[in-house]
Amino acid sequence: MQNKRKLVRVGAISLGGDAPISVQSMTNTPSGDFEATYRQMKALEKVGCDIIRMAVPDRAAVEVLYRLKASDITMPIVADIHFNASLAIAAMEAGADKVRINPGNIGDNERVRAVAKAAALHGVPIRVGVNSGSLDKKHLALHGAPTAQALAESALENVRLLERYDFDNIVVAIKSSDVFRMVEANRIVAAACPYPLHLGVTEAGSELQGTVKSAIGIGSLLLDGIGNTIRVSLTADPVREVEKGRAILSALSLDQKQKIRLVSCPTCGRTKIDLISLVDAFEKRMDELHPVRPLKVAIMGCAVNGPGEARDADLGIAGGVKEALLFSHGEIVRKIPEENVVDELIAAINAYRDN
Ligand code: SF4
Repeated sequence: MQNKRKLVRVGAISLGGDAPISVQSMTNTPSGDFEATYRQMKALEKVGCDIIRMAVPDRAAVEVLYRLKASDITMPIVADIHFNASLAIAAMEAGADKVRINPGNIGDNERVRAVAKAAALHGVPIRVGVNSGSLDKKHLALHGAPTAQALAESALENVRLLERYDFDNIVVAIKSSDVFRMVEANRIVAAACPYPLHLGVTEAGSELQGTVKSAIGIGSLLLDGIGNTIRVSLTADPVREVEKGRAILSALSLDQKQKIRLVSCPTCGRTKIDLISLVDAFEKRMDELHPVRPLKVAIMGCAVNGPGEARDADLGIAGGVKEALLFSHGEIVRKIPEENVVDELIAAINAYRDN
């Protein structure tokens, strides 16, 4: 059950309220290179990115942002600002759908107030982003380390500062490379303010390590109903971040873009069909699927657990010796030779109708 938060609109995407949990990423092309950034954003849109963030470190990046907003990119674009309040204001004038500021380094209260005033004028939310690597000096000194309590207090102090300027179009993100701290800090903030929360384990590492850390950190909070938008941070192509983010939502049945919930067995000494290749081939062709509704599909290796899982799914495959049984609506439909399994399963998914 989702912990209901204030509704905040980021372009066409809503965070909080009853809105679905969205997946974000961040471009890593040079911020002044329009063509490369545009191409990467199109690739990210294709794999299901809901919101994209880009670094805006200078005026050249503001110009790129302006051109991106005038292009056919439909995802909301978030301007990531550090150190420079006037760039945050320029980014909003260029059409940014949200600005992310780290109040620890944006400057004095007057600068934060100027950003809040411009955001109110443009109807743009501000994401208060606190990160263990750039925690403000005051909270760092107070706690001696970027502890969960220090991160939460810093975020809440900056939320209160924006509120003092009558600004409440806020999203809060607290990130740490330490999974425990990230989870604990978000729990504290979720209990202390009503704003949507952006979840992520930052500087999480390589594709494997970062995915595992993110799945544990983000997943733990989502299981508690905490979190409205997520980013899996990986030292990898941002496309991988979006794929992993969608997979985390999918594992918790929270992905509203999910077309197929796949169940497949790990294979064992009983497997007499090349199940690993079949599942790989099926996953690579998921783009071809147009089911009438999200379907549960089981691809199983043998007659031990195969028929049970296949019957329990909308459509299923239970492997035999170089062949497989196709199940639909819990009933056996026919035998399929191994080489035709993926083609026939895809055809059956596209033809599937509820009884
Ligand atoms: S379903 Fe069959 S092949 Fe797959 S792991 Fe279980 S016993 Fe092994």
